[in-house]
Amino acid sequence: MNENSLIDQAESHILHTYNRYPTVFDHGEGVYLYDMEGKRYLDFAAGIAVMALGYGDEEYNQALKGQIDKLLHTSNLYYNQPIAEAAKKLCEASGMDRVFFTNSGAEAIEGTLKAAKKYAYDKDKRTDHEIIAMDHSFHGRSLGALSVTGNAHYREPFEPLPGIVKFANYNDLGSVRALVNDKTCAIIMETVQGEGGIYPATEEFLGGVKEICEERGILLILDEIQCGMGRTGNMFAWQGYGVKPDIMTCAKALGCGVPVGAFVMAEKVAKSSLKPGDHGTTYGGNPFVGAAVSKTLDIFKERGITGHVKAIGRYLEEQLEQLKSEYACITARRGIGLMQGLELSVPVGEVSKKALGQGLVLITAGSNVLRFVPPLVIEKEHVDEMVGILRKVL
Ligand SMILES: *Cc1c(COP(=O)(O)O)cnc(C)c1O
Repeated sequence: MNENSLIDQAESHILHTYNRYPTVFDHGEGVYLYDMEGKRYLDFAAGIAVMALGYGDEEYNQALKGQIDKLLHTSNLYYNQPIAEAAKKLCEASGMDRVFFTNSGAEAIEGTLKAAKKYAYDKDKRTDHEIIAMDHSFHGRSLGALSVTGNAHYREPFEPLPGIVKFANYNDLGSVRALVNDKTCAIIMETVQGEGGIYPATEEFLGGVKEICEERGILLILDEIQCGMGRTGNMFAWQGYGVKPDIMTCAKALGCGVPVGAFVMAEKVAKSSLKPGDHGTTYGGNPFVGAAVSKTLDIFKERGITGHVKAIGRYLEEQLEQLKSEYACITARRGIGLMQGLELSVPVGEVSKKALGQGLVLITAGSNVLRFVPPLVIEKEHVDEMVGILRKVL
């Protein structure tokens, strides 16, 4: 079947919730993707910040193949070796205490919100607790995750959404302070906002929110689904700020391509929140995804991925700043490490479409930001190749 008839087939059976680029990727190698006709694409999107190790990593693939032959799934009624190891490594990497594995980012947010509510409920037995979330945030598409997502367009058709959620302005500490009261049980935010347009938290803001949380006994929830797993040059973005959350969420690059997420909490929350019977999942944390997470964390350590991201991220940032100085249509650059955005005064959708035609995979964020979230294993030559193509497109 050729590409066009395959696209027609997909469009006649798959629910139309995405306006897809008319490209069918067939296989990948390193930081390149290939379509059905064999055309090569440099990948600066990594399947939306998922494929941190790129495509076809031999060591990672072998670990997964081995686990397929051994054991795929048993349910959470029993223990399994790969997930026990993955949990230990995730706790070591974060310095946090307890993990619950999920199948996606949204599901990690759902569990986190339940944990925060239960923690507050256990203290005072009230059921009117409030959560503070941020404008322009993105936490996922399920109802609970939508309830804390600060984007009216995503939310409105599905109102009323669960829980009492109030929205503050990101990086505006006064706006958070104004919403805090004695019913506030948690403040949730991305350490670096992704979908909203690549906005890193300022140090004053994140530090200030942490202070408020400590003063008032409020839980700090940091969503590290996009900015975590080495993307900013630290294993988790909050480590670069020295501000530790009470609960954090992970997904996207956590399993480098298998569907897995997690929420990770401090012992203080674990001790008095979700208990047997309060939460569960059939698939979550099965041996297969356990092998993926465990191997991913090993590879990050052995290959010094975060150090590499620090160096190559600096180079990408310099090159993007250079582009900005050359093109009037680039109005801002923001980001940390290999999570970067260029704000454009021309339609970003057109730019990413043209880039794809030229063999460069780029995605957008917000309404006017070109997003750069490549595999973490890119080298300088790939940054140069990307910039070369982008110059042509611009
Ligand atoms: C992608 C994303 C989510 C949702 O993850 P899914 O796996 O798509 O459910 C939540 N929070 C952030 C910050 C994300 O980038």
